[in-house]
Amino acid sequence: MRDHFEVRDHDAAGRIGRLEVPSAGVTVETPALLPVVNPNVLTVDPSRLRGEFGAEMLITNSYIIRSTDRIRDRVLDEGIHGFLGFDGAIMTDSGSFQLAEYGEIDVTTAEILEFQRRIGSDVATPVDVPTPPDANRDRAERELATTEQALTDAEATETGEMLVNAPVQGSAYPDLREAAGRHAAGTDLDVFPVGAMVPLLNAYRYDDVVETVTAAKRGLDPDCPVHLFGAGHPMSLALAVALGCDLFDSAAYALMARDGRYLTVSGTEHLAEMAYFPCSCPVCAEHTPEDLRAGDDDTAERLLAEHNLHVTFEEVRRIKAAIRAGNLLELVDRRARGHPAMLDGYRALLDAADRLEATDPVSKDTFFYTSHESARRPEVRRHHGRLDRLSVPDSILLTESKTPSTHDYDAVWRVKPPFGPFPRSLSETYPLTAEVPDRVDAAARRAAAEGVRRLADANPDAAITLGHDGWPDRVLDRLPDRVETENLRELGR
Ligand SMILES: [Zn+2]
Repeated sequence: MRDHFEVRDHDAAGRIGRLEVPSAGVTVETPALLPVVNPNVLTVDPSRLRGEFGAEMLITNSYIIRSTDRIRDRVLDEGIHGFLGFDGAIMTDSGSFQLAEYGEIDVTTAEILEFQRRIGSDVATPVDVPTPPDANRDRAERELATTEQALTDAEATETGEMLVNAPVQGSAYPDLREAAGRHAAGTDLDVFPVGAMVPLLNAYRYDDVVETVTAAKRGLDPDCPVHLFGAGHPMSLALAVALGCDLFDSAAYALMARDGRYLTVSGTEHLAEMAYFPCSCPVCAEHTPEDLRAGDDDTAERLLAEHNLHVTFEEVRRIKAAIRAGNLLELVDRRARGHPAMLDGYRALLDAADRLEATDPVSKDTFFYTSHESARRPEVRRHHGRLDRLSVPDSILLTESKTPSTHDYDAVWRVKPPFGPFPRSLSETYPLTAEVPDRVDAAARRAAAEGVRRLADANPDAAITLGHDGWPDRVLDRLPDRVETENLRELGR
């Protein structure tokens, strides 16, 4: 049991949690966004991050501090909190990123952890090896062994109250990620970054992101706080939270601003091409795109970075509210419309609906059927699983609307796409209170037909009649032959 992390609310695999950071005297509510602060380039002054933006934690790079003569002694002297002027929690990276970029660094895990402790880091990182997603298997295995050795070295290092990251690597090999997750969860380390995701995120390979994180999560324990390294674009946060990630860092807010890019929850825009700001943050309320283009470049970069942070923190709050209300998957569904690659990510998430189902609350706010992907949500799956256990009399009518008067039945149940059949006594319970459009789509009817099939298979001796509102043959073909069907629309009443 990891006593510094507590999960409070669930929706899908997403959760609201509390991460206690003892050396900072801070409890961070998750999902949390950690702005990345480059100690050499303070695009937005860190002293503003907590009060103005709501950042409870930030991340900076201890390797850069250690390698930069100009600041190292000052940081050792003042401590990292004093140097940055930030009184929340501070996570520090170790130089692993530099290792991945340049091939080598001149520091061991023991040395960099000791340095992180001396500068007063609250969550430190060992020197893991971020293997890129398209590496061959030999390399991925070899580098994973090095990462696992770094975790062992970290366990052996005296770190006091400081929390320590246990990065999960393994490139894009699901079995390696799962094994890495299991190994990391077996250490006494504290926070679990899923590493080397930046190439996937930058290439918009969101389906691969989902599969990689899902594999890592299978190995990790449910009480492990999970950090999705490099996932700071507001567009992708709802999806990443629904997967079960708790911490995110954003370098994007500053890097994008440097290129004149403006983040939104549905993608990235270019300042050069914008006529209006579609946002009401303090920056966008007080400036027009033309103002920023006409002013000096440094100011424009800072203001863009501030907007990028505002819109990202706003999305984090929206996600937390969605978890509380139980409509996180509706939010993911909306975000998936921003870019086809996000839709791939959402569809990959639904492929893992069995895992989502394990943590998805049994009851929440009304289920909204908002796209044909909704037919694959865990609630539909759970209802189908329940159909196997419901007892059915000798003859039963399942009806989508009216009752044909030509027969007598022992019972009449309702049928509602995408769930399928259920006894009327359940009609006021979640998720059967769902709001479904009148113009039902084929995916919802297919899922409902699957429910009818499940009920028929579980009750081989029952006489089952389905009254439907004009389902096409390609949907009806999915039913066992012994289910009689009647098109209620053709009854003409
Ligand atoms: Zn704005």
